Amino acid sequence: MRRKMTPFEKAERAAKRAARRTEAEAKAEASRRYYENVRSIVASGVCPLCGAGLRRNMALLGWWQCEQYGAPEWRKNPEAPDCGWQGFTCPM
Ligand SMILES: [Zn+2]
Repeated sequence: MRRKMTPFEKAERAAKRAARRTEAEAKAEASRRYYENVRSIVASGVCPLCGAGLRRNMALLGWWQCEQYGAPEWRKNPEAPDCGWQGFTCPM
């Protein structure tokens, strides 16, 4: 049988648990803000980096990219420079 924890050990364990909870909540909040931000960008239909349009990449659920993303043959306008914006509107 395990020995009883001392008050100090109990307090230490509670503090660690609270720290883990705070960290998990912060991650969940950052994740929520990220998806909210991408959803508002997608709703606007405009790339936040270059002002081009956006298109959905059907390979993965919720994946959106700038129309100028990637190699020239993938871009809406191959003459215009490429843009690296992409985002997810929901967890994969
Ligand atoms: Zn762009």
